[in-house]
Amino acid sequence: MLTIEGIEKSFSDNKVLKGIDLKVNRGDVVALIGPSGTGKTTLLRTINFLEKADKGTITIDGLTADCHNVSEREIIQLRRKTAMVFQNYNLFRNKTVLENVMEGLVVVQKKSAAEAEAIAKEQIELVGMSDRLNAYPMELSGGQQQRIGIARAMALKPDVMLLDEPTSSLDPERSAEILKVLQKVAKTGMTMVITTHEMNFAKYVSNHVVFMEAGNIVEEGSPDQIFNHPQEERTRRFVQELE
Ligand code: ATP
Repeated sequence: MLTIEGIEKSFSDNKVLKGIDLKVNRGDVVALIGPSGTGKTTLLRTINFLEKADKGTITIDGLTADCHNVSEREIIQLRRKTAMVFQNYNLFRNKTVLENVMEGLVVVQKKSAAEAEAIAKEQIELVGMSDRLNAYPMELSGGQQQRIGIARAMALKPDVMLLDEPTSSLDPERSAEILKVLQKVAKTGMTMVITTHEMNFAKYVSNHVVFMEAGNIVEEGSPDQIFNHPQEERTRRFVQELE
């Protein structure tokens, strides 16, 4: 489904990713965890070329790009296989809930308005927001806006959904709501990669946890392995500090 091989990325002389290899299978929910500044968000953003890696390859659903020599056309093709959910929601402020979710379906996927509306309504229902179809983002709470961000990504039916700290702007109660929504999304079989500081996500939504530190993957495995039986000393220390 998604294969990342040998990804390296520097900002000036700061080497942020030092050779990342990662395999994500269809239906996996992968949580990227680790200390602040470790490269989790940068890694997520290299997958859809919001950041261009200096070295390495990205393969999504059989389409491979060499990051160093990637063309604009390849970037567009690969981007269409992904959908991103952002920390700050990034909704169109001048569009309603329904219009926000329909936008990509009409503009990018060239679906008819009627088809786009039907798909959008189905996804808005999944995130429990059917009663706010005509609301504007500023009329919604942060948690509600993020639910729309998730519906918008789901509507595109991407091969992989990328979520960058989806709850870091929310209070614990709203985070818990989003956690429940993402559990529902996971049950649909959607493949997801999530960067998060919210360990409940890693424990209760993901089936694969990747612990990163200083631009490297230190250890990866099931939530049970990473949280209860870590093999690496650095993982053990990180997990202990959370308690
Ligand atoms: P956090 O958990 O705090 O979000 P993270 O693990 O996601 O951190 P990144 O956001 O990927 O870490 O940042 C990794 C490093 O790359 C940091 O040192 C950061 O300052 C640097 N960095 C990220 N984006 C840029 C950029 N656009 N320009 C320059 N440096 C950047």
